[in-house]
Amino acid sequence: MDYDYSFDSKLPRVGTTIFTLMSRMAADYGAINLSQGFPDFDGPAPLKEALCHYVRTGHNQYSPLAGVLKLREQIAFKVKHLYEHQACPEKNITVVPGATEALFCAIQTSVQRGDEVIIFDPAYDSYQPAIELSGGTAVHVPLQPPDFHIDWQRVRDAITSKTRMIIINTPHNPTGSLWHVSDMQQLNELVCNTNIILLSDEVYEHLVFDGQQHESLLRYPELAARAFVVSSFGKTYHVTGWKTGYCIAPDKLMREFRKIHQFVSFVGVTPIQYALADYMEKCPRHYLELPDFYQEKRDYFCQKLAPSRFKFSPSAGTYFQMADYSDISHQSDMEFVTHLTQQLGVAAIPISVFYKTPPDSRLIRFCFCKEDSTLEQAAERLCRI
Ligand code: PMP
Ligand code: GLN
Repeated sequence: MDYDYSFDSKLPRVGTTIFTLMSRMAADYGAINLSQGFPDFDGPAPLKEALCHYVRTGHNQYSPLAGVLKLREQIAFKVKHLYEHQACPEKNITVVPGATEALFCAIQTSVQRGDEVIIFDPAYDSYQPAIELSGGTAVHVPLQPPDFHIDWQRVRDAITSKTRMIIINTPHNPTGSLWHVSDMQQLNELVCNTNIILLSDEVYEHLVFDGQQHESLLRYPELAARAFVVSSFGKTYHVTGWKTGYCIAPDKLMREFRKIHQFVSFVGVTPIQYALADYMEKCPRHYLELPDFYQEKRDYFCQKLAPSRFKFSPSAGTYFQMADYSDISHQSDMEFVTHLTQQLGVAAIPISVFYKTPPDSRLIRFCFCKEDSTLEQAAERLCRI
């Protein structure tokens, strides 16, 4: 018999994430899963070998609180090389079990009851619940279609004396849009005389196409001085299930971040960290080759999808492609992805779930980090509708 108890939900408006729902529906209906973002191919063989090696050779106990030092040194090397940012492995870098945790801890560290946090809609789904759990309020500023750029006047209008944090996500999930130098300048002007903390979600930092540059916040010393910058090895090394990411922040912020991290997960998985450190050291070219690798996939998918009735312009970054289905159906996006999954055998993600106030548009997201054969088969089905 169930114990008869009642308690107030801390997240009354939250259900199961759309990624879980759509992956489950894809599995139930045997659909090709272009919904949740994960590759259908494996990470590099030497990386997997390295993990086996470290498990076999006894690297199976707790790592230091901030993560395996060798991995933090590799991260420091990478951000120096790519973004000219000097991060001290001891003071400024913490390895965490997944970027999701880094985002959560950064928000818990910074946001107090009554604070406001500006997020840009469509917004990745973990931001708002983390803000609410810290007692804060999310203030939603919509990105401007069709290219989903920032309307800086709207950001200015959204700032109040209670604004504690602004959350940035570039390259952007789900739209694939990028921040540009001018956005960083606008942001700097906006926050320079305030106490606003920045949280920059850069998990797709290496997935930027057409010769564009990733504008990491770390390139901008004035911004980095007030920022948590988060990335994920899951995306970079095709191992989303390894759930390992990191956060970079100035000493003062990182000290507080670690106080919370130590009571959320304490540490990440030790042999995974050693394996990643080895691989980063031995194959520094891996992330440099990622833009071309994924741009080819984007182009392949777009080329195969071109004869369909979906309308789209190729994604600027991430491994997601947005598509407009307004020439195909007037259904809501949730109804449409359900139909696609169950009847056509291709699962996708509806976009309206990432909005506080969804616009009247007909957009869905496809994930193209898949084998070419998967993309071809999916596109062939999508051309039938
Ligand atoms: N931020 C964004 C924008 C993402 O798409 C994801 C996807 N997984 C994450 C954070 C979380 O990354 P991780 O799997 O490392 O927790
Ligand atoms: N970030 C991934 C996506 O956008 C999913 C991660 C998750 O399922 N939490 O598809």
